[in-house]
Amino acid sequence: MDTSDDCLFCRFTTGDLAPDVVAESELSLAFRDINPQAPTHVLVIPRRHVPNAVALARADAGEIADLFDLAGKVADAEGLGGHYRTVFNTGSGAQQTVFHAHLHVLGGREFTWPPG
Ligand code: 5GP
Ligand code: ZN
Repeated sequence: MDTSDDCLFCRFTTGDLAPDVVAESELSLAFRDINPQAPTHVLVIPRRHVPNAVALARADAGEIADLFDLAGKVADAEGLGGHYRTVFNTGSGAQQTVFHAHLHVLGGREFTWPPG
């Protein structure tokens, strides 16, 4: 699988560093965000190093499908009752800070819309 030596999240997928993993599949890894913005705040990442969600979809549509499948399993395991937010930030202007695609799964509190 494609990884990048200087990428924090690749160091999680290779086992070089150990986040608080809550679920995994052959293609994806889910772990708790270190700075949670909700009672449940899990990041779901592809094992493949790609910079954002669109790049992942273009590289392998099956991998982004697996990412959402794992996100749904995490939401169920966390007892969110089908009420949660899934977010991909793309680009620094949208507050992306880690340039390895990751899906935020947030739940366990009320949300507002628009998000601000
Ligand atoms: P972004 O802003 O790129 O959409 O999201 C990056 C997320 O990664 C942030 O929510 C941030 O809290 C989280 N994060 C950054 N460094 C670490 C880390 O070392 N471990 C974990 N578990 N999460 C991290
Ligand atoms: Zn990476």
